[in-house]
Amino acid sequence: MGAWAERVAPPGYTGIMLPVVAIVGRPNVGKSTFFNRLIGERRAIVHDRPGVTRDRHYETTKRWGGREILLVDTGGLEPDPDTDLFKSMRVQALAAVEEADVVVLIVDGRAGVTPLDREVAELLRRSDRPVLLAVNKLDTGRQEYHVHDFHGLGLQDVFALSAEHGRGVGEIMDRVLELFPMDESVQEEEEDSGEVRIAVIGRPNIGKSTLVNGLIGEDRHVVDDAPGTTMDAVDSPLEHNGDRFLLVDTAGVRRRSRIHDDVEGFAVSRAVRSIERCHVTLLMIDGTEGPTEQDARLGALVVSRGRALVILVNKWDLVKQDQERHVGVVKEEFERKLPHLSWAPVLYISALTGKGTHRVLDEVRRVYAQFDTRISTADCNRFLESALATHSPPQKQSRPVRLNYMSQVRVRPPTFNIWCNTPEGVIDSYKRFLTNRLRDTYGFEGTPLRLFFLQKRRAGDGAEDG
Ligand code: GDP
Ligand code: GDP
Repeated sequence: MGAWAERVAPPGYTGIMLPVVAIVGRPNVGKSTFFNRLIGERRAIVHDRPGVTRDRHYETTKRWGGREILLVDTGGLEPDPDTDLFKSMRVQALAAVEEADVVVLIVDGRAGVTPLDREVAELLRRSDRPVLLAVNKLDTGRQEYHVHDFHGLGLQDVFALSAEHGRGVGEIMDRVLELFPMDESVQEEEEDSGEVRIAVIGRPNIGKSTLVNGLIGEDRHVVDDAPGTTMDAVDSPLEHNGDRFLLVDTAGVRRRSRIHDDVEGFAVSRAVRSIERCHVTLLMIDGTEGPTEQDARLGALVVSRGRALVILVNKWDLVKQDQERHVGVVKEEFERKLPHLSWAPVLYISALTGKGTHRVLDEVRRVYAQFDTRISTADCNRFLESALATHSPPQKQSRPVRLNYMSQVRVRPPTFNIWCNTPEGVIDSYKRFLTNRLRDTYGFEGTPLRLFFLQKRRAGDGAEDG
């Protein structure tokens, strides 16, 4: 399954926050066809390899309006014929709602509304995520009237689609981008309360609660596993060298999954909530095993949510001989399996013995400072100038690409707008070059970065430095 990490981190994916879209629908409505159309031919081939299809896939789309979107295929949650279809669909839809910013529900326009469609639409309607209804298999304009059959599902955004022929695909993606305006600066920056919020995530039994208990210094939040008693998020405040921290969702850390028997991937969805509440994520990995596919997936979620990240390689006490050499092995594994997290610092610890754990909060503090870094507009433009002098953007279309002006519009994570004459003309490898150079110049260790390329409006019409 080594190919998985490559699919999580395709070229061009350099730690920039992307909107996450999940595709749901019952079997045979055309989910895979739609998915493959969005990601383009080349990567679709990887997808169809046997053995990888059981899992949910994360994949970036081809670019729409100069932007990429992170797609979640819930195909891995496809019911097998022996299990209850209703139940499987529920789980699929719930996972989609938890992980995605926008859900696309696909139905079969030729089959008409089925009870399953109704069930899922109802469930999605009650979520707080935007839901787009795509009525598929309407291959010609004459079939589009079938769309009306589906208005009864009560979803507002309805589109006629032919995933096979590509009709309607652009409209759906345009709508997704509309829901995620390019100019993120309009988003309120949260007030700085002075405390750094930390989420501890990782697979079951990796040592999360052992670490959390160790950091807090007592066993006081070992919680009862009885259903109903642990549903509320419990946060634990901490102080270290005069800095204030908040460990979020520490009850959730202790809570044993009650659903993961149904779907192994569901544990991931729960981690998303903690990730969304934190500034810095501590992703725990088993030092004796090295990074797994699930770890890569969790890491991708941290990136997609734009959170800072420190990787903790735990159970290091079990690596008895030749730790030095083992570090080399783990490093190689990281490069192979977690290429999308190469900017995150790695600590080797034992939550059980406490070895190395005293450095965790210092590292969190350091990474948070990077996450919260603001570069002045003057420095941004000096940076841009020197980058352009080293490498001018390659020309993709007939029009030469000109990057005019750069400014940082947000912190947490550092987010940059670059104004240019043709955002579509900026190719992925150049984006990657700029991101890498930003890291070379300013560090930014442990924080994802976001770069937005915007069409220049008028001469001299720059952005305000926020
Ligand atoms: P999934 O099970 O939801 O992933 O569905 P698939 O993508 O595997 O598609 C199921 C079947 O529907 C396949 O035979 C597709 O070729 C077909 N299909 C998918 N999209 C369209 C479409 O837009 N028009 C038509 N006519 N057939 C489609
Ligand atoms: P969680 O499910 O991620 O919260 O994992 P726990 O903290 O409950 O730990 C699972 C098991 O791994 C427990 O038996 C721990 O004692 C053990 N464990 C946790 N951290 C370490 C470690 O650093 N070294 C060793 N040897 N065992 C550990």
